[in-house]
Amino acid sequence: MKLIILGAPGSGKGTAATVIREKYSLAHISTGDLFRYNIKEQTKLGIEAKSYIDRGALVPDDVTIRMVADRLGNDDCKSGYILDGFPRTTAQAKALDELLAKTGDKIDAVIHVITDDDIIMDRVTTRRVCEKCGASFNVKYMPSKVEGVCDVCGGKTVMRSDDNPETVGKRLETYKENTRPLIDFYNARGIIVEGNNNVDSATCIKSIEDGLARLNLN
Ligand code: AMP
Repeated sequence: MKLIILGAPGSGKGTAATVIREKYSLAHISTGDLFRYNIKEQTKLGIEAKSYIDRGALVPDDVTIRMVADRLGNDDCKSGYILDGFPRTTAQAKALDELLAKTGDKIDAVIHVITDDDIIMDRVTTRRVCEKCGASFNVKYMPSKVEGVCDVCGGKTVMRSDDNPETVGKRLETYKENTRPLIDFYNARGIIVEGNNNVDSATCIKSIEDGLARLNLN
């Protein structure tokens, strides 16, 4: 099964993607995580990406598409994957179609996580992530057992450099302008599955699972 998960930054798509990945045994490909890994390792790609990420802008399409094409070639993608944070522009969506067409593949469903802006702003500015393993916590809604320490690996939990209110505002604008049009792009194919994350992630995930079942994806 090949899935995309779309949603504004901080909509909770990463959390939903983690649950869906486990349930359906998929590789989880988060372009944000791939960029952050490259930034941490100070690769050429990471150094280029950081300047865009820190101001809430998108990394250029050519760089992003090349990184994803490379990642999709890994063995763990053979039995299916969920793309989280990609595509984010129409050019990226078209490039993905072309890439999949080469092997006669297609995207089976696009999950749309819906969350209101005020809820996003509150959740993202209180989010903390583990520097080491990337696990996500929230000081208000899902704190780690010991403040500042990751429950999963014992690493240090920190605020992402792009989770401050100003950058989050810019990321929301970027989403509306560049990424939201993709809902129509995929809706035309009848493969959108919705989950509303305004209340809690369990309700959102249940709607997603029901939607996937309606498309006969189990
Ligand atoms: P995320 O963790 O998905 O919120 O991504 C963090 C940041 O990485 C975004 O605000 C962008 O700057 C960059 N990024 C992630 N995915 C993409 C993409 N598909 N295209 C361009 N930039 C991206």
